[in-house]
Amino acid sequence: MTKSKPTASLVSTGEEVLRGEIFDANNHHLANTLGEHGFDVQLMMTAGDRHEDLQFVMDTALQRADYLFMSGGLGPTEDDLTTTVAAELAGRELIFDEASWEAILTLFRKYKLEPGNNNRKQAMLPLGAEILTNNNGTAPGFSLSFERYGSEKTIVALPGPPRELHPMISDWLRDRAYTAISDDEHLFLRFLGIGESPLAEALEPWTKDWGEVSFRQAFPEMEVKLYQPALDKRLSLCQFAAEHLGQFLTTYTRQSTPELFTEFMQANGLTLALAESCTGGLAAKIVTDTPHSSDYFLGAVVSYNNTVKTDVLNVSAADLERDGPITATIAEQMAAGALAQFNSDIALSFTGIAGPDGGSAEKPIGTVWMAKANAGGCESKKLNLLQDRDRIRTSAVYHGLRWLMERWLKQRYARQIETWSID
Ligand code: ATP
Ligand code: MG
Repeated sequence: MTKSKPTASLVSTGEEVLRGEIFDANNHHLANTLGEHGFDVQLMMTAGDRHEDLQFVMDTALQRADYLFMSGGLGPTEDDLTTTVAAELAGRELIFDEASWEAILTLFRKYKLEPGNNNRKQAMLPLGAEILTNNNGTAPGFSLSFERYGSEKTIVALPGPPRELHPMISDWLRDRAYTAISDDEHLFLRFLGIGESPLAEALEPWTKDWGEVSFRQAFPEMEVKLYQPALDKRLSLCQFAAEHLGQFLTTYTRQSTPELFTEFMQANGLTLALAESCTGGLAAKIVTDTPHSSDYFLGAVVSYNNTVKTDVLNVSAADLERDGPITATIAEQMAAGALAQFNSDIALSFTGIAGPDGGSAEKPIGTVWMAKANAGGCESKKLNLLQDRDRIRTSAVYHGLRWLMERWLKQRYARQIETWSID
């Protein structure tokens, strides 16, 4: 029988978080870390420094979950109210904890500082609380269990500064023998060229009754995550995706298209050259963002101006004059030119209209021609991309890289299914 997961609510506190002046890194980190360690995170909230607000969110959090993970408000000042409200909700008094006070004094001594009167407040903790040592700051945290709403509740109070909070939550989890669920236990699928709504709709028959499925945009890709699926579910979803969404599916892992591309180039021992017009060097940037790209990437020509296309890539001036730069022919000539210039095994080119101006009825913004060339010849493909300049250019590059390794990708995920079936 599988044990049900412990439930958790998260509350961060501080006016600066509430006003959006700082990003709520703590709730983000806690949600992620607790999720990885098998908690079912149900609510995430933020309160400012007002007593009644903090009480409201902490009480709400306790109604909903077994555990309340708090961050912030443990400091020495008046507006730091977490300990006070936690004691009120637990019906416990605050007592002076000698050991915590000693730890605070030791820290002050280390930095040759004098503790202020209000620092004593940080050693006032709810009766029965377990102290969580803070090795990076003065505020100790605490873990406090009590009865409320008919079951046992636990408040885990952690300090606001992330560098103090991170080791403390790790220690708390380790001391209670919570181990991380490895990514291998989940199923990830990556798709390129399909948006969240059509993807969710297409996968609905497989995901509707399975509960824990999440869709995450990792632009321009979509990542689907299935939490700890049984093997039969894993296989049936993967097979369905391969059969019906094969034109979008890239992998059953968390790897992005550029990461897969590096693997592809290394596995096949090929070299690459690029000829870029509308992408303006972005393809080279994306390729070189991935480590080990030097193994296969030779270089790029950013032939933004037509004279560079003719002079460096040997594109026909007459063709440019007659039909403009955004055609299958120009894309192919650019790829062939890059192949010759760099003496690479393969070359990839992009020419298109990224906007915001320059579109026409015949060639709307988002029209991109790409071409690939190798010793065997040239091939071109037209993309009709949506959205703004940035997104059009990024999508074009991802589509281009995927196009170069299409067959290899399909073989790769078919092999993956075989491996699971045998295991
Ligand atoms: P201190 O002893 O430093 O006062 P504290 O536990 O009282 O610690 P806060 O006063 O709430 O914590 O926050 C201290 C600092 O920690 C903030 O100024 C901010 O830089 C950082 N911090 C607090 N909460 C968050 C959060 N949710 N996300 C990211 N940083 C945070
Ligand atoms: Mg504070």
